[in-house]
Amino acid sequence: MFDLMKDHQLQELHCFQQGKLNAMVAIHSTRLGPALGGCRFVSYKDFEQAAFDAVRLAQGMSYKAALANVQHGGGKAVILLPEGEFDRRALFEQFGECVNTLAGRYITAMDSGTCVEDMDWIKSKTDFVASHSAIGNPSPYTAEGVFQSIKLTLEEELNTSMEKATVAIQGLGNVGYALMEKLISAGTTVIVSDTDKEKTRKVINEHGVFVAPVSELLVEPCDVLAPCGLGGVITPQIVPQLNCKAIAGCANNQLLNEEAGELLHQREILYAPDFVINSGGLIYASGQYNQLSKEQIQVNLDKLIKTLASVYSASHDKNLPTDKVAVSMAQERIEAFGVDN
Ligand code: NAD
Repeated sequence: MFDLMKDHQLQELHCFQQGKLNAMVAIHSTRLGPALGGCRFVSYKDFEQAAFDAVRLAQGMSYKAALANVQHGGGKAVILLPEGEFDRRALFEQFGECVNTLAGRYITAMDSGTCVEDMDWIKSKTDFVASHSAIGNPSPYTAEGVFQSIKLTLEEELNTSMEKATVAIQGLGNVGYALMEKLISAGTTVIVSDTDKEKTRKVINEHGVFVAPVSELLVEPCDVLAPCGLGGVITPQIVPQLNCKAIAGCANNQLLNEEAGELLHQREILYAPDFVINSGGLIYASGQYNQLSKEQIQVNLDKLIKTLASVYSASHDKNLPTDKVAVSMAQERIEAFGVDN
């Protein structure tokens, strides 16, 4: 566990065990401010897998906040989905009490498997929560940031218009579905896939889009592949099989490892780093939490695209993979900020 923390430069890892609640809070850094990051509620094979997810995601949140000009460090919580029957409200209230013991060093929010109602239950026990119903679901802002990033990638890097392009979306959740609707409105051809058959049935009925089998979506011929499910889907093994020119989606930690990023670079598949382009929700939620004006929030949202353009530009100039460039930029910003709080 300590090696995992060291490898990811993690500041703190807190574990909570109470009845059916098995939860972890990973605080990567508080240098830029209190750590902010979502709470994941999914099933994990074991404790190690959950810890690995929390630690990697917390590190990604630090980079995301640094590049999004948000005055927060990176953190992430995971609650292991309990086996059998459980009282969801009681579980999230319990988790709220755990978050409260950290006295504001970690602020929680929605993530895969959690919803606004869960956040309201947490809010009944702590003020350190950033996406309850008074703030609203941040996902539409994430979808808008990813949409604008795909537009920039197509128009500025691939010399293709939105109308002529095809985008393949893996995952039709909060963000993927909203992204699909935006792309359809822009005249883009969309291919989608979701492990949840109910969701794919709905999009066929409502939008008549092409649905690819789950096992084939990643290798569908397209201009942009948008992973919007879970992370780790771009593996060194899948890169040689990809039929896209660029990758730009919302899922956190899309690259399984650095090698996958290197291989994408070698194949000249342009990768829009996830933590650069999926920060719209963080910008919105942290802005609301810190009571910024709508105008200030919009300024930070607009900067997201400029940051992506500068990542692409530095990657071309230095002939380096985009993910490496973006990590260096984020680390420089964090280093420049001084000492841990
Ligand atoms: P969600 O849980 O609402 O949706 C994920 C969807 O992906 C589900 O419909 C699920 O069935 C589907 N899915 C999972 N694995 C799949 C696979 N292999 N093939 C096809 N479909 C698959 O989650 P979300 O809020 O839309 O977020 C999606 C991703 O983006 C997550 O990794 C999340 O951490 C990340 N993210 C979300 C936000 C946000 O604002 N919601 C912000 C930043 C990052």
